[in-house]
Amino acid sequence: MAAIGENLKINSERLWDSLMEMAKIGPGVAGGNNRQTLTDEDSEGRQLFLDWCKVAGCTMGLDQMGNMFARREGTDPEALPVYVGSHLDTQPTGGKYDGVLGVLGGLEILRTMNDLDIKTKHPIVVVNWTNEEGTRFAPAMLSSGVFAGVHTQDWAYDRVDAEGKAFGDELQRIGWRGDEDVGARKMHAFFELHIEQGPILEAENKQIGIVTHGRVCPGPKWRLQAKMPIQDQLRCPCAKTQGSPWHGFWIELRQLRCPTHLMRSGRRVISMFTRIHAT
Ligand SMILES: [Zn+2]
Repeated sequence: MAAIGENLKINSERLWDSLMEMAKIGPGVAGGNNRQTLTDEDSEGRQLFLDWCKVAGCTMGLDQMGNMFARREGTDPEALPVYVGSHLDTQPTGGKYDGVLGVLGGLEILRTMNDLDIKTKHPIVVVNWTNEEGTRFAPAMLSSGVFAGVHTQDWAYDRVDAEGKAFGDELQRIGWRGDEDVGARKMHAFFELHIEQGPILEAENKQIGIVTHGRVCPGPKWRLQAKMPIQDQLRCPCAKTQGSPWHGFWIELRQLRCPTHLMRSGRRVISMFTRIHAT
């Protein structure tokens, strides 16, 4: 065991192997992952995480939003747990590390403590939040949002994906709807290790940073509708335009102000996502 004041070291090879093992489930484009929430692949990823947690001696809690809580006991029965975690779901074109590192990094902490026979006063709980990405069921951070009281559970269950499937039904279908009340847990602290999704660390040649602020980016949404003569619609690929003198379409614009840029320079940096729908 490390001496007092000496930094503990995790087993980075083991963490790497676990990341690679998890990445085999739901392979995506360019070596990344497509393990969207409440899919069969998500279920498989959860099972693997559960198996690893059991081997590490944890008990697993599962709440009614499918949030997973792997607990390693502490020595003080009165002490509230310290939580660490993130999410195992990915974007359709997601990477191997994003939230996965936050979950498996937490598990590696527990494994290291087991190796070194370290006991903690507070229990430690590693969390996998359901649907942090929000691609399949908008909005993002849905289940942590219910946990925090931002959304109601009924509202979350009614979110539908592009095929009209409801969140609640899909959670039930993949078998990861637990009994535990959502948000009932008390926390001593919560930590999340996460890949940075902005340019700052790379630009400053740093490997790690501490987040001091958080901001949700819902963004305003406009729907603009217009009709114009067909001869003005150059390069329109829609077959419906043929033979019709008028063609309606609408454009959806979504503007996000990037919080990292805001914090950094005080300037407003706008990223714009545009979708054009032909009608
Ligand atoms: Zn993430």
